[in-house]
Amino acid sequence: MSAPAGRPQRAAAPGRDSNADLSPDTAGAAGCAVRGQRELFCGLTGIVWLHRRMQDAFFLVVGSRTCAHLLQSAAGVMIFAEPRFATAIIEERDLAGRADLDDELDRVVARLLERRSGIRTLFLVGSCPSEVIKLDLGRAARRLDRQMDGVRVLHYSGSGIETTFTEGEDACLRALVEQLPAPEEGAPPSLLLVGVLPDAVEAQFRRLFEALGIGPVSMLPAARGAERVAAGPGTRFLLAQPFLNETARALEARGATRIAAPFPFGAEGTSAWIAAAAAAWGIDTARVRAVCAPGEARARAALAPHRAILAGRRISFLPDSQLEPPLARFLHRELGMQPVEIGTPFLNRRIMAPELALLDGVAPVLEGGDVEAQLDRVRAAAPDLVVCGLGLANPLEAEGLCTKWSIELVFSPVHGYEQAGDLAGLFARPLARRKMLAA
Ligand code: SF4
Repeated sequence: MSAPAGRPQRAAAPGRDSNADLSPDTAGAAGCAVRGQRELFCGLTGIVWLHRRMQDAFFLVVGSRTCAHLLQSAAGVMIFAEPRFATAIIEERDLAGRADLDDELDRVVARLLERRSGIRTLFLVGSCPSEVIKLDLGRAARRLDRQMDGVRVLHYSGSGIETTFTEGEDACLRALVEQLPAPEEGAPPSLLLVGVLPDAVEAQFRRLFEALGIGPVSMLPAARGAERVAAGPGTRFLLAQPFLNETARALEARGATRIAAPFPFGAEGTSAWIAAAAAAWGIDTARVRAVCAPGEARARAALAPHRAILAGRRISFLPDSQLEPPLARFLHRELGMQPVEIGTPFLNRRIMAPELALLDGVAPVLEGGDVEAQLDRVRAAAPDLVVCGLGLANPLEAEGLCTKWSIELVFSPVHGYEQAGDLAGLFARPLARRKMLAA
């Protein structure tokens, strides 16, 4: 199964973690599931931001020419740098035996590691072509891991059959969790921040946790393979991204404890995220307020000009990134926007509970969905702004609707106090541009 390069894949997929199968017409409450055709990029897309974060990792996609085209167009900006991803193309060849494919893969990996001595983590990334599905990449990764000195070899699937574009990061991080060491015996409780964050954002969060006396703090994924990250009983973790359902499950299976919190988008979300960690460390609220107040004030000041553009405007979210509920909460509560419908591809009610509580009564939160029915509802509601995938944005713009590509939200620094203004700007800009063009 393949999608044209740079285009989203259409797949009829069941909702995950859902316990309802309601039509959108009956789905008035937060967190209902609808089913049908979806239109999303596959999990390979995550490599574009994962490889920037993990500076000594390499992502070897075992796939088709389509996969290679997708990666190249998604990561077009990297064309002049030495990329840390590549595609081993295995289609269009004699598939007489699996041993041939294993040998071929071994040869490609050996050549790669010979040429690139700085690689410390190698991910074999699975895709959808039937030749790849026949390959046991897990077995290949274990074999290569034993053979390669100083390089850990892991695998995960970025296939469009199994993953959406944000689930690629989830699958990658889950693979990392599985080989993390346990904390040393007697080690103090530690905080693990989970999800790819730009270095500058990581530094801001580290300063805040340090000011509160929370630590040691580590990151998953770490910027470098040599950084010690452990997970087990005594590890408390905060998700920085709302789409890391499998990673959270794997951490919990290791005995780590998830700290329930809204996500760190906007002033309110960031303060609530930090306060949840502080509560787990027993730090009193007055101290949390004192540490958070300056950042919160800067964030609110940065939001003010965007609020002038966004307040009162209606917004619909088509299911794409799983970022939809926290973004809707931020845009509604801090910028005065009115969500019409909040579609999200998967809704993990446990992880999303703090966000759903803040969205209660605001707008229906719909899991999964049938893209054609969603488009019909968008056309009927005619909101001021539609947040959707790249493949839907152009047709909707052609119909006169104003759109925002949700993929930009995973490529841009949007977490924390200092980025709150930029995050609001991503939504204000399309409206401001439209106003200018209409003038
Ligand atoms: Fe297409 Fe599948 Fe490759 Fe993604 S993994 S580019 S959907 S063939």
